[in-house]
Amino acid sequence: MPKEDLECSFCGRKKAETNLLIAGLDAHICDRCIEQAHGIVVEEALHSTNSELSKELILKKPKSIKEFLDDYVIGQEHTKKVMSVAVYNHYKRLLQPKSDDEIEIQKSNIIMVGQTGTGKTLVAKTIARMLNVPIALVDATVLTEAGYVGEDVESILTRLLQAADYNVEKAQNGIVFIDEIDKIARKSDNPSITRDVSGEGVQQALLKLLEGTTVNVPPKGGRKHPDQKFIEVNTENILFIAGGAFDGIDKHISKRLNMQTVGFSASKKTDTMERDNMLKYIIPRDLKDYGLIPEIIGRLPVLTYMNPLDKGTLRAILTEPKNAIIKQYKKLFEMDEIELVITEEALDFIVEQAIEYKLGARGLRSLCEAVLTDAMFELPGTEENKLHVTKSYAEEKLSKSTIKKLKAVS
Ligand code: ADP
Repeated sequence: MPKEDLECSFCGRKKAETNLLIAGLDAHICDRCIEQAHGIVVEEALHSTNSELSKELILKKPKSIKEFLDDYVIGQEHTKKVMSVAVYNHYKRLLQPKSDDEIEIQKSNIIMVGQTGTGKTLVAKTIARMLNVPIALVDATVLTEAGYVGEDVESILTRLLQAADYNVEKAQNGIVFIDEIDKIARKSDNPSITRDVSGEGVQQALLKLLEGTTVNVPPKGGRKHPDQKFIEVNTENILFIAGGAFDGIDKHISKRLNMQTVGFSASKKTDTMERDNMLKYIIPRDLKDYGLIPEIIGRLPVLTYMNPLDKGTLRAILTEPKNAIIKQYKKLFEMDEIELVITEEALDFIVEQAIEYKLGARGLRSLCEAVLTDAMFELPGTEENKLHVTKSYAEEKLSKSTIKKLKAVS
């Protein structure tokens, strides 16, 4: 057959009408049909992952959720247990067939209270990774009431859509982590004195999202793109996890505990408690005293706390999680066929530095980076196939000036 007579076996276009005509065994396909077919394949694939997702979700019991968390998050046993149950119940609620027994299971949105750097974001991210659902990490401090400078609360859903590659169904089953929720606490007890643009107003705006509503979401966020089409997102099945340090909330807790224990050996009781993590005794009322409005607290029914990271935990964070920092460096060196060996003393030394300079878990990485940068620069391409990091090696690399710099950025 002459070349110009060839045609697409799918749409019948002649070769001249196509940009590209690809030959098969005894058929041809044009560029347009390839694109169309590709669209169908992608659509199908998304569809099947969604139903696979639900199958996977129903199989994960709280214990296996906790086991998954154990691989990545050190300590924080209480939070891991509470989260496992909350997440399990949340997805059980999603997967339950509609029934008419009028028992409506409430959403188990979660609020985590604990110092910065104790793993709140890590827990939320790990849950999302396990469930293979999209997650949006947002900071409550940038949110303002609609109409004011800053971001509207709808921008949260824009982020979630982006994380879900604009697959609305996936986004609607996703997770939103709202960090620094304590920063939008009501500043004064009298809400009417001044307009509290970034405080109570935002809490009110968040309420609707938390309880479940349909929102028209600008896909690119912000008000800079006035002509963009809105995407409708229903927040009913989105799991919201809020986190905050709530600096000073321990005073509210101890005050309350003191009041309750007035009388026999009251002072002794609080004395021993204080040496502990006060957050252990947190109840929703403390959040209210701190300035969260009762409606918000009601929509975040699962309340849990994080423990400060002690020396043993920091030491374990260096080497134990599945993607522990030291494991990552070992792998990086391995790619250059260099074996990285770090002595126990060197690791202890790094942890001591993190504690001494109050760098926390986030500082561990910067400290390791400071210790290993020279070697990562010098060794690749040389004959060297082993790096032995001892305490004195680490001490030398972490010269005083470097630590000072690390402290300055923390
Ligand atoms: P937060 O959200 O509480 O401020 P992050 O979750 O962002 O803290 O923690 C910062 C980093 O510190 C994490 O990326 C992780 O590497 C490390 N980290 C903190 N806590 C833990 C923990 N309990 N287990 C393992 N790593 C942790």
